[in-house]
Amino acid sequence: MNEEISIPSDSEGFYSLECPYCGERFKALGGDIDAEDTLEIYCPSCGLADDSNSFIPQDVIEHAQTIAMNYMKQEMNKTFGKAKRSMKGSGISFDFKKMKEEKPKELTEDETMEQVKLHCCDKTIKVHGDQTTDTIYCPYCGVN
Ligand SMILES: [Zn+2]
Ligand SMILES: [Zn+2]
Repeated sequence: MNEEISIPSDSEGFYSLECPYCGERFKALGGDIDAEDTLEIYCPSCGLADDSNSFIPQDVIEHAQTIAMNYMKQEMNKTFGKAKRSMKGSGISFDFKKMKEEKPKELTEDETMEQVKLHCCDKTIKVHGDQTTDTIYCPYCGVN
């Protein structure tokens, strides 16, 4: 299966990220994280860097996987449902139980985050309100 798993973003196109070191959550714009020259992301809170994939929160991964699985189940249900119908009256019967779709894990959108403009890289991220431009590290260049 090479269904692409898409990570959900909020209404403004921000993706939730979580630092693998300190667990601090922040948000960044999808286009910035996916950019070819963004290989590593610096945590705005502790300033440590890691591969951008390491910053995807576990609940977001599970959410995306459930959606991908549901898509696959829908396709299977369609395919087998058709096969079952076409075999009607042919004397051959087979039993196919529809696969149940699972409800994707509820993602809690953090509404307490505020947008911060990073002048060093001319990018915008979202961090918790108690962090300010003076205390955060830029996720893209690591500048404090
Ligand atoms: Zn951190
Ligand atoms: Zn920067």
